[in-house]
Amino acid sequence: MKIGFVGLGHMGAPMALNLLKAGHALNVFDLNTQAVQSLVDAGAKAATSPKAAATDVEFVVTMLPAAAHVKSVLTGDDGILAGIAKNVTVIDSSTIDPASVKSFADLAKQNGNTFVDAPVSGGTGGAAAGTLTFMVGGSAAVFEHVKPVLSAMGKNIVHCGDTSTGQVAKICNNLVLGITMAGVSEAMALGEALGIDPKVLGGIINTSTGRCWSSDTYNPFPGVIETAPSTRGYSGGFGTDLMLKDLGLATDAAKSARQPVYLGALAQQLYQTMSTKGAGKLDFSAVIKLYRKDGDS
Ligand code: NAD
Repeated sequence: MKIGFVGLGHMGAPMALNLLKAGHALNVFDLNTQAVQSLVDAGAKAATSPKAAATDVEFVVTMLPAAAHVKSVLTGDDGILAGIAKNVTVIDSSTIDPASVKSFADLAKQNGNTFVDAPVSGGTGGAAAGTLTFMVGGSAAVFEHVKPVLSAMGKNIVHCGDTSTGQVAKICNNLVLGITMAGVSEAMALGEALGIDPKVLGGIINTSTGRCWSSDTYNPFPGVIETAPSTRGYSGGFGTDLMLKDLGLATDAAKSARQPVYLGALAQQLYQTMSTKGAGKLDFSAVIKLYRKDGDS
């Protein structure tokens, strides 16, 4: 299939590579020309704008930081909707708020196109391995239509319900993730302060009832999990500012639903503090620095 791809960051680049590996033809665009060049080296065609990336394709995938970026890429003069033919489907895998999804879906519909929310979980490791979980919002027919494209980038492709329910699932998942990472950080730092070897503590948690992804895959204490961002100076991975954004999405959505999110609001303040300290670009597991005596960022 011919696919346009806009947004070649930590997640988008490996996802686009997997589409190429599956035999799809890709037009790629990103503001970062180096990111574009890496994909061109792997066989993609460089586009000069989102509009150019969306020209003469069957699908367009977007993987951008936030709703404002999706809006400009979609509706700008050089945007996707300006270049796209009728009946092309736009799959947005960015994590954004459900209300924006609904407005983008309406705009696409007026243009004769379909906009599908398909945010992901699984992190950069899952993006590279092609094992992401996709949470898809749209009709059953649209879900069947996008499934072959998403299957080249993920292992679990889940139909969550109508438009925007993919984002609802994603926001709720990341609410859990932001809280568990803060919880594991608190426990690992306490263990260190009380004198236990962090590797021993990590091993115990990972075979006990405290086990979770934040502990057994992404442990925030350096050296406990060799492949975790904490072991490489909190580089790569899922940025603190992105987690802060997602907890903002959760607390905003909770406000509109008049639903309490006590721990989410507290976790949001922890990542906000990290961002204020200039650590917004570090992986979100760097939140442990708030707890460790020598961990000031
Ligand atoms: P990133 O910041 O690494 O990448 C975003 C890319 O978008 C960058 O390459 C940037 O240059 C590009 N971009 C920004 N504005 C653009 C524009 N106007 N036109 C073209 N390109 C533009 O972010 P990421 O970590 O890849 O995350 C992308 C999305 O996926 C976010 O919504 C994030 O919340 C979500 N997400 C991230 C992870 C993760 O582990 N990193 C996991 C799940 C979901």
